[in-house]
Amino acid sequence: MRPNQRRCVSCRKIAPKADFWRIVRVFPSRTVQLEKGMGRSVYLCPQHSCLQLAQKKDRLGRSLKAVVPPEIYQTLWQHLSASDRMIGSTMVESTATDSAITESAKPDSSP
Ligand SMILES: [Zn+2]
Repeated sequence: MRPNQRRCVSCRKIAPKADFWRIVRVFPSRTVQLEKGMGRSVYLCPQHSCLQLAQKKDRLGRSLKAVVPPEIYQTLWQHLSASDRMIGSTMVESTATDSAITESAKPDSSP
């Protein structure tokens, strides 16, 4: 395992750090938070199945040895639904004219 690779606490998949959500138990306050902070951290795929499993089995709490507040899960579910909406809108959205998203939303490898 290369240094910048991490493992998902739910499905055990190994992937680059950037592919995962990071959940951190901040040192020394032991507050559990997302993405930022120094302390013990666990990684989770930004996927419905992995989030569901992590929540159901308390994989995050067990790995961090801390209580994961419900807001953390809430935020992650919101991330998921937000990206679902984004995927959905780029598929059908063609009304963007002068906005900044036209550049990145342009399909540059269409079949
Ligand atoms: Zn996973």
